[in-house]
Amino acid sequence: MSALERALAEWREALGEPHVITEPDALAEAETATFATSQRIPAILRPASTEEVRASLRIAQAHGIPVYPVSSGRNWGYGSRVPPSDGCALMELGRMNRILGHDERLAYLTVEPGVTFRQAHAWLRAQGSRLFITTIGGSADASLIGNALERGDGRGPHADIFQHVCGLEVVLPTGEHLETGHARFAGSRTAPLFRWGVGPSLDGLFSQSSLGVVTRMTFWLARKQPYLREFFCAVPDEAQLFERVDRLQELALDGTLRGSFFFWNDLKAFSVARQYPFAETHGRTPLPAWALEQFREGLGGRWAISGALHAPDAELGAVLERRLLAALDGLPRPVRLGPIPSEGESPFQGVPSDANLTMAYWRKRSPRPEAPHPDRDRCGFIWCSVAVPFTGEEARRAVDLAERIPRLFGLEPNLALLTHSPRCLYLVLALAYDRDVRGEDARAQACYQALSRELAGAGYYPTRLGLQSAGDTLAVTDDSLAVLQRIKSAVDPSGILAPGRYALTPPRDT
Ligand SMILES: Cc1cc2nc3c(=O)[nH]c(=O)nc-3n(C[C@H](O)[C@H](O)[C@H](O)COP(=O)(O)OP(=O)(O)OC[C@H]3O[C@@H](n4cnc5c(N)ncnc54)[C@H](O)[C@@H]3O)c2cc1C
Repeated sequence: MSALERALAEWREALGEPHVITEPDALAEAETATFATSQRIPAILRPASTEEVRASLRIAQAHGIPVYPVSSGRNWGYGSRVPPSDGCALMELGRMNRILGHDERLAYLTVEPGVTFRQAHAWLRAQGSRLFITTIGGSADASLIGNALERGDGRGPHADIFQHVCGLEVVLPTGEHLETGHARFAGSRTAPLFRWGVGPSLDGLFSQSSLGVVTRMTFWLARKQPYLREFFCAVPDEAQLFERVDRLQELALDGTLRGSFFFWNDLKAFSVARQYPFAETHGRTPLPAWALEQFREGLGGRWAISGALHAPDAELGAVLERRLLAALDGLPRPVRLGPIPSEGESPFQGVPSDANLTMAYWRKRSPRPEAPHPDRDRCGFIWCSVAVPFTGEEARRAVDLAERIPRLFGLEPNLALLTHSPRCLYLVLALAYDRDVRGEDARAQACYQALSRELAGAGYYPTRLGLQSAGDTLAVTDDSLAVLQRIKSAVDPSGILAPGRYALTPPRDT
């Protein structure tokens, strides 16, 4: 009997036969991302409790079989569910989907890894809660915990999601169990409230890492505001855009704009509104200038700025409005302010939506289905996200690079500047293509590599990495990589948890 066969027998014993999946079709689906990958998965494990996670990891350790955990597995554009190394069993935590705690007054929600944005929103609504959890532009069925662990970005005042979590429960690869902050003390009254605890703060170690499986996390919720107005304006050209970047940074710093707002280029707005105009362009790619020009006329410019104003009453809201309109003054078309939504229902106050997933279908010739699933539908989609200082000048430098490179590879530069701090922007570029077109996987991968190399060369480093960057070494100038690798060896001596992830250990071939 091989080590894998012995591990499978023990996993079946621990989790129950139906929760250790080895059917070739299910494995093939899990091995599919939105770009080319070659990793093979021998089994899918579906534990239902922290105890079952511990048992699964102990078995993995005993037999030396690596495991890759996902919560909902919708890490689309970063590698989906595909593990960083060949031969990893995929641990899917979707069965652990309980909401474990909620406090309306202290504004938090404690969840297991399988809880999704859709589920959390519906649950809070059913409670008649006045609170909301930040949502993302990605799938409503993505998980709160998987997203937070990747330090994802959302909409609303808690847009920097990992800034608003605490009280992690973690199972280490050895099967040991730890809790962060005050959660580790018996009878603690502040486990879901006080992030730091005493002594070294460990939360950050478990984000963007492969040091443990997180089985519980508390999210701090935001209060729905009686005054909420979404705003939108179009900016005709780059010169005006970067001036507005500077003006809006001041509003972020002085608190007029709280949380996230967005600068989208025309191509991004186009690809969210509709799929590639193959009929109009007679199948020609990349998008001809005249087709983009037509879309710009509808949009009203080269770039779009959108966000929301939040205030506890209409009087303060009116002041914020005046300040925003002054900062955006001088544009050819007036700024549009949306109506104050009934019951505060807005994506900026926690209503999840799959609308932006249309972007992943940009170059597909088949229409976007009602229930999008880019892995299944062979959408080609790769994210490249880097951090940029929040000034117009820096944004101009980074945008110039990011707009130029995709064109060299026959792809459209789909770009956004996302803000959730007054100091730093995320420049997020999506490479959207069709995996069914021969050669496009390789072309998009080469484009990603050129982009990340050029951006790093200019001083703009990634905010998040996916499988598309596997094999690239993060060149650091200090001893951090060696130190991180020592931490990894200490908590995962057999190297069984997500080997290769975030370069903590080299990928392993089994
Ligand atoms: C069109 C489009 C728009 C998008 N918009 C956004 C956006 O606005 N903001 C954003 O942040 N992302 C966005 N994404 C990217 C992505 O879809 C989300 O980040 C999504 O939340 C990730 O999927 P998930 O939550 O299911 O995480 P998973 O796929 O479950 O996990 C993500 C990663 O975290 C690790 N992980 C997950 N759970 C655990 C655990 N319990 N313990 C240890 N490690 C774990 C996994 O190993 C995996 O590497 C978008 C994607 C697309 C295609």
